[in-house]
Amino acid sequence: MDATSASITLEDVGKVYPDGTAAVSGFSLEVRAGELTVLIGPSGSGKSTILRMINRLIEPTSGQILIDGRDVLKQDPVELRRQIGYVIQNVGLFPHHNVRTNVGTVPRLLGWDRKRTEARADELLDLVGLDPARYAKRYPHELSGGQRQRVGVARALAADPLVLLMDEPFSAVDPIVRARLQEEFLRLQASVRKTIVLVTHDIDEAVRMGDRIAVLAEGGKLLQFAPPAELLSRPASPEVRDFVGADRGIRRLAVTPVRDVMSPYDGPTDGLPTVEATASLHDALAVMLTDDSETVVVVENGRPVGSVTRAAVFQVPATV
Ligand code: ADP
Repeated sequence: MDATSASITLEDVGKVYPDGTAAVSGFSLEVRAGELTVLIGPSGSGKSTILRMINRLIEPTSGQILIDGRDVLKQDPVELRRQIGYVIQNVGLFPHHNVRTNVGTVPRLLGWDRKRTEARADELLDLVGLDPARYAKRYPHELSGGQRQRVGVARALAADPLVLLMDEPFSAVDPIVRARLQEEFLRLQASVRKTIVLVTHDIDEAVRMGDRIAVLAEGGKLLQFAPPAELLSRPASPEVRDFVGADRGIRRLAVTPVRDVMSPYDGPTDGLPTVEATASLHDALAVMLTDDSETVVVVENGRPVGSVTRAAVFQVPATV
C-alpha cells in the first residue's frame, strides 16, 4: 500500500449553527502528515463539529481548512469525501450488503472494475485481521461489534485515502475488545501511516493512541496541543490538569520510554531482570516489583544498553 498521507491545516475555523449556537470559534490547528492527532474534550466542546468540517459533512461558517495546502471549500464535497476515510461509532455499514461489498464501497464509486474492487476489499480485510474466506460473504448482523468495527476501518481505508477521520471509533464495544482494537489499529497505522484525526472523550484512549493530543474546552477553545508525555508532565493550565486526571503520574510512566531515563550500563545481566529498550517505565516498574529487584537492565538486540532503578522511576522529573 502507498504511504500516502497529507497534512491538515485549520486556520481560524468557526461554526455557528443556524440556530445561533457558536459551536466552534477561531479554531486553529496544524495536523502533521502521517500522525495520529486526537481531539479530546468534554461533551459539547465542538470535537465532532471540527472533525466533520474537515470532510465538509458540516460547512464551516468562517476560516479555512487546507489538506496538503488545498482549500477543502474549493473542492467538490463528494469528491473530497472519497479521498477522506471516515469511521464512526456504530460504523454505519450497509446492512443489506455483505462485508466485501461494504468494504468496496468507495472503490466502486471511483469506478474500479469488479475484480480490482474485490481484490482490494479482500486485501483490506486481511489487513484488519478478518480472513476474507470466512468473512467476506457475511452480512453485518452476522458479525460481533468488534468485527463490524474492523470492517468499518477496512472500508475507510479501501481507496487509500489521504486522511482518516475517526469519531469515537471504539466506544461502542466493551473495554476488552476496545483495548484489542486500539492495539490492532496502532499496528495497522504503523504500516499505513495515514494522517488521522480521532475524536474521543476518553483520556486513556487519547494517551494510548495519539502522537499529539489537542485538548478542547467549550466553543472549540484549544487549551493545549502536545504529545501525550508532555501533556501529562506539563499540563498548560489547571483546567488541562483536571481534565487529564489525578492518575496522570501513572499514565506518564506508561508513555515514557525507559530509553529516556536509563543510565549507561554494560555490566553483567546475570540474575537481573531485563526489559527491551522500547518498553515504558510502567513496564520497567512492573518487572522490578514482580522480581523484587531495585534495578532492571535495558536490553537491545539481546545486549545490555542501560539500566533503570526504582528510584530513577520515581524521580522522573515533571519536565520529561
Ligand atoms: P462534541 O463532539 O465535543 O460533543 P459537538 O461538536 O457535537 O461537540 O457540538 C458542539 C456544540 O454544538 C454543542 O453545544 C452542540 O449542542 C451544538 N450543536 C451540534 N450540532 C448542532 C446542530 N446541528 N445545531 C445546533 N447546535 C448544534
